[in-house]
Amino acid sequence: MSNWSQYEMGPPDPIVGLNESFALDDNPNKVNVGVGAYRSDDGLPYVLPCVREAEKINMSKDTLNHEYLGIAGDPNFVKLALEFAYGEDSGVLKEGRVAGVQTLSGTGGLRVMGELLKKGGHKEIYVPNPTWGNHIPIMKNAGLEVKKYRYYNAENSDLEFDNMVQDLKNIPEKTVVLLHACAHNPTGMDPTAEQWQEISKVMKDGNLIPFFDCAYQGFASGNAPKDAFAIRMFVEDGHNLATVQSFSKNFGLYGQRVGALSIITNDESEAKKVLSQMKMTIRPMYSNPPKHGAQLVSTILGDKQLTTDFIDQCADMASRINDMRIQLRTALEEGGDRNWEHITKQIGMFAYSGLSSEEVVKLRENHSIYCTLDGRISMAGVTTKNVNYISDAIKEVTK
Ligand code: PMP
Repeated sequence: MSNWSQYEMGPPDPIVGLNESFALDDNPNKVNVGVGAYRSDDGLPYVLPCVREAEKINMSKDTLNHEYLGIAGDPNFVKLALEFAYGEDSGVLKEGRVAGVQTLSGTGGLRVMGELLKKGGHKEIYVPNPTWGNHIPIMKNAGLEVKKYRYYNAENSDLEFDNMVQDLKNIPEKTVVLLHACAHNPTGMDPTAEQWQEISKVMKDGNLIPFFDCAYQGFASGNAPKDAFAIRMFVEDGHNLATVQSFSKNFGLYGQRVGALSIITNDESEAKKVLSQMKMTIRPMYSNPPKHGAQLVSTILGDKQLTTDFIDQCADMASRINDMRIQLRTALEEGGDRNWEHITKQIGMFAYSGLSSEEVVKLRENHSIYCTLDGRISMAGVTTKNVNYISDAIKEVTK
């Protein structure tokens, strides 16, 4: 009798599990547009030249070592990461009101935040409907009930802003509400600047706590400071908000697990207390975060020229994705009467195509094109070489 027989076979992960099926597929034309990872136009993983440069600089330092970081990570990285989100001249940073730690990328930061909320007596968190699939189990596993506010109307492929506002108005005060800072995943639809202003006001009036998930800063518009617009505006409006940052996509550091979690508090002494609780949450979970990737980001953001290079290179990635949106939409609309305008209206890494789960399964089974069951296509995996293959296949499964 085994000691482990109580464990049942679990289902594959709805997003990452696609990589496993893709690897086993022997169709030479196969396309992976499931997981959100940027690919060059040759379909290859891409290392930003500024990251290669930072790697060379760091490796040649006499001071290089592999000692542990502290529980809260590399303080220089945390400082630069927070300035990246809130702005170098941010008042709340200058006042020492922000508690910040380095995290295991965005996912790890979200989990630390979930644990911290639970510890602070929170019982629930609101997320948009739909949202990145992993938000829900991360927060549930931290012991929170996950509730949804309306966000996107699949019928007209647009934001359902009035319904969103109505739902926000009905959330009890002091509840944490997760917002995607930019390039909403999976829909690619963000509120306009005016709509963000209204959201900020409604949340302020309702005494709600904004929690920004910022996983695509630079990827939405190609301009990293501009993509932090909503966060910075909410801070200006006086919200004591929280932000989780990921450096996976914008810096192409997926496997390095580079992220940060920060919480704006009332004053320096409150920030110290919150920081101590963050550290007490982290220590028994994973003790301290990894060093290498965070130091690459610090080397880049700590150097004016490398930061300029980064902004240009991030803009190049965003621009290749936008070109692919245009090419995919044009190819899809050629000889058909279906409207694919939403593909070019959406921004960021994904096209929320509107394909049904049956159509997605047909794409996979008949054409070896892998995207998630909700019809989300990673535009970062579309290239000039496969765009026609993808559009022909989509036309075939939707005819
Ligand atoms: N938040 C959102 C909205 C995301 O799309 C992702 C990555 N897909 C993450 C967080 C976390 O990514 P990572 O753990 O690589 O930072």
